[in-house]
Amino acid sequence: MKRLLILAIPLCLSASVMAAQAPVGIVIHGGAGTIDRSKMTDEQRQNYEATLTKAVNQGYELLAAGGSSLDAVALAVTVLEDSPLFNAGKGAVYTWDETHELDAAIMTGQDRNAGAVASVTNVKNPILLARAVMEKSDHVMLTGKGAEQFAAAQQLELVDNSYFNTEFRFEALKRAKQAQQPVPHQALITPDPNWKMGTVGAVAIDSQGNLAAATSTGGMTAKRWGRVGDVPVIGAGTFADNSSCAVSGTGHGEYFIRYNVASDICTRVKYQGKTAAVAADNVIAELLEAGGTGGVIVVDNKGELSWAFNTPGMYRAKRNHEGTVVEIFSKAGEKTGK
Ligand code: ASP
Repeated sequence: MKRLLILAIPLCLSASVMAAQAPVGIVIHGGAGTIDRSKMTDEQRQNYEATLTKAVNQGYELLAAGGSSLDAVALAVTVLEDSPLFNAGKGAVYTWDETHELDAAIMTGQDRNAGAVASVTNVKNPILLARAVMEKSDHVMLTGKGAEQFAAAQQLELVDNSYFNTEFRFEALKRAKQAQQPVPHQALITPDPNWKMGTVGAVAIDSQGNLAAATSTGGMTAKRWGRVGDVPVIGAGTFADNSSCAVSGTGHGEYFIRYNVASDICTRVKYQGKTAAVAADNVIAELLEAGGTGGVIVVDNKGELSWAFNTPGMYRAKRNHEGTVVEIFSKAGEKTGK
């Protein structure tokens, strides 16, 4: 008996040391699109980089202190939602009717639990509402007025829709309306080539090896008729499964839905044995062939952090034990963040 105990103690110790050494990491994005280097001032670039750095650091510090990937992605996305720079929360784009309708989703990899909200107009941080749907309801997705009633019942912070007004996004709406003027009866959502999309997202792995993904957006400028994009569609813009990877996407949502982008990447990792970086590159390249623009951030279940995008830029940052990387523009020849 004594011998068994003596043997068991080092085994327990090595198990806990191993758990403590599991590589934690986080990747975030603030949208992909035509981000024109020549049109961005140094001050603007610094503002974007500072906010990305703040979000990735807060998420990483939480993970390094033993926090869960779920808490880390929710925290990082909340920081980005509170910034007017990104198309989520405070900086959400305008609908055709000059209002704001926000979508968000969150997913945990250990149990494939998920929560999503679509077309909410008065919730300050839609990602927190998505999390409440996952944790406090029997459902995966709530929309519109019902989602807002649930937010009030959960005592989440509510704001007037005008809280999301920004001059910069209003100008983008005016440009989008001019471009679409001849066919106002059609649900055309053609992204302005000079428009930075700005959806936000985060993926993370914690010291328990659990993955999580979170994405939040105002959708696409000038959207109409209750249009909902890929972000709250689990498997399209947001996905997490401990057996493969966690993904958050940004781009032309209609393509992400049709090509099931986030879960396609993880499926290739799981069944084709591809690395997450290669799977992401392949899926994003195929998306472009189909006419869809955008990008993804990915973390796999070994802690490898990567990204892929087919646009001139994607606001992005990652942090693990190797350090922090914050980038905006694509680098010549770069396909992933590895
Ligand atoms: N994917 C988002 C949507 O289609 C937009 C974006 O990523 O900027 O709603």
